[in-house]
Amino acid sequence: MVIRIRRPCERGVNAAGRSDAPDGARCGCYGWGRVPDDLLLHETSRAGAPGVPLPVVPHWVDGKPRVGDAARSGEVTNPATGAVTKTVLFATADDVDAAVRAAATAFRGWRRTSLTKRAQVLFAFRELLNQRKGELAAILTAEHGKVLSDALGEVTRGLEVVEFACGIPHLVKGSFSAGASTNVDVHSTRQPLGVVAVISPFNFPAMVPMWFFPIAIACGNCVILKPSEKDPSAANWIAALWSDAGLPAGVFNVVHGDKIAVDRILEHPEVKSVSFVGSTPVARYVYETGTRHGKRVQALGGAKNHMVVLPDADLDVAADAAVNAGFGSAGERCMAISVVVAVEPIADALVERITKRMAGLTVGDGRSDADMGPLITRAHRDRVAGYLDAGVEAGAALVVDGRDHRVGGAPEGFWLAPSLFDRVTPSMSIYRDEIFGPVLSVVRVASYDDALQVVNANPYGNGTAIFTNDGGAARRFEDEVEVGMVGINVAIPVPVAYYSFGGWKHSLFGDAHAHGTEGVQFFTKGKVVTTRWLDPRHAGINLGFPRND
Ligand code: NAD
Repeated sequence: MVIRIRRPCERGVNAAGRSDAPDGARCGCYGWGRVPDDLLLHETSRAGAPGVPLPVVPHWVDGKPRVGDAARSGEVTNPATGAVTKTVLFATADDVDAAVRAAATAFRGWRRTSLTKRAQVLFAFRELLNQRKGELAAILTAEHGKVLSDALGEVTRGLEVVEFACGIPHLVKGSFSAGASTNVDVHSTRQPLGVVAVISPFNFPAMVPMWFFPIAIACGNCVILKPSEKDPSAANWIAALWSDAGLPAGVFNVVHGDKIAVDRILEHPEVKSVSFVGSTPVARYVYETGTRHGKRVQALGGAKNHMVVLPDADLDVAADAAVNAGFGSAGERCMAISVVVAVEPIADALVERITKRMAGLTVGDGRSDADMGPLITRAHRDRVAGYLDAGVEAGAALVVDGRDHRVGGAPEGFWLAPSLFDRVTPSMSIYRDEIFGPVLSVVRVASYDDALQVVNANPYGNGTAIFTNDGGAARRFEDEVEVGMVGINVAIPVPVAYYSFGGWKHSLFGDAHAHGTEGVQFFTKGKVVTTRWLDPRHAGINLGFPRND
């Protein structure tokens, strides 16, 4: 598909009232932010709809949009309508190289910018994002499909990391030992890495990048963000916001695309670290390839999160939590609960309560007051629906079949209502695979020990929860469970920004979790300086190894 500059955006300036423009969006080209009109691109033709212009999402390099040769591109859809709404450019190696060059050049000045000034830019970004978070939420809903309240929640969780990063002068403070040896002082400092890359998944187009870039930038690095090609516009909107906040050009860059862009990032010698979030096979690939090229890599992968319900738990609270954590954002959350482990004899009562609550859930366009929106693409919707057949064939009891549910949205949307399986066993594909959709499985076990065994035998280790009123059992679970993030009567235990986010086993490759102090350490390298100011009495030659006297 050839993209040509044709004419300024007319749709955009007139589009605020269009029926498919999300509430709060300034125009149909909101993915662009405030890009000059002469840089707005439209397709000259498009399969199936000749002559229909679509906004194009370009890269963002050195403080402005970049088109590059635009030889490859992808379609962005509104999952609630099934309509193709934009074209996103796919980066070539040259586009990535241009972004890295811009970042490397900006790094020379940014790393020397005072902590006070960096913190001021962070504070300005925080204020702007807080004022305008409704716009960003509308973009997320239009491209991801999640309901607006959930999109707003996503932005708010990202904001928390920005707020954490505002404290950068304190976070990178080193230590100092006066008189470590005679006339010798020792101090430690942390320095930025240089050009760092963030590669993010479709399910949190704002929050996941914000787990990393506020801290990376605050630490003095320059960032290349490669967001998901499925919902790319949030990244450009954020890039424009950084400019408004006073961040120098080149400190935050965006390249869009697929494996070609990712591979160039992984191989580029100037890229010093990679923070990846996505599915486990790609996370493993990114980790292995990036580290082979000498980079620092943190690669967060997929998940299969279990919620254990002990017999003494409040079953109404547990049922509410299972429904909220299982079906929020259509189950497309890495911390979604996908397996409820019911410790007998409460399974019947729990399944009944969950089923009752599911009947009240509404599914529809994220701009309406529905509880749950559509899935991200038609292919993903069909893949998830395929698991409903697979589960039945394997012998699980399909208690609620989402395919039967009436949906309040456009017929071409990627709809699948919540589904519930009971009597699932660990050998079934609906248990083994990460479905990443609104499908909840109940596994029945006889005891706490059996529940623990199920959770620990699973190859993923992202999040888990236990519901109980027994403090002793909860404490034992916290100690014994092999999972990175644990909730006690909290179904989605996403850590606050000043702690670190990340799983164990196949849910994270590398050593560093996201944000918190681990984030600061990831984006800096430590240096220890030993200083001696000679006094007039110093003299003599000594070839021995330096000693502390
Ligand atoms: P994905 O792995 O398909 O894509 C993630 C990123 O990798 C995207 O930017 C994509 O363009 C790129 N990519 C895809 N295939 C690639 C390839 N072959 N080579 C190089 N790059 C490639 O993931 P997704 O479908 O966008 O997101 C959903 C997945 O992300 C789920 O598995 C979910 O559990 C996981 N996730 C994990 C966390 C976590 O914290 N552990 C958080 C959010 C999402």
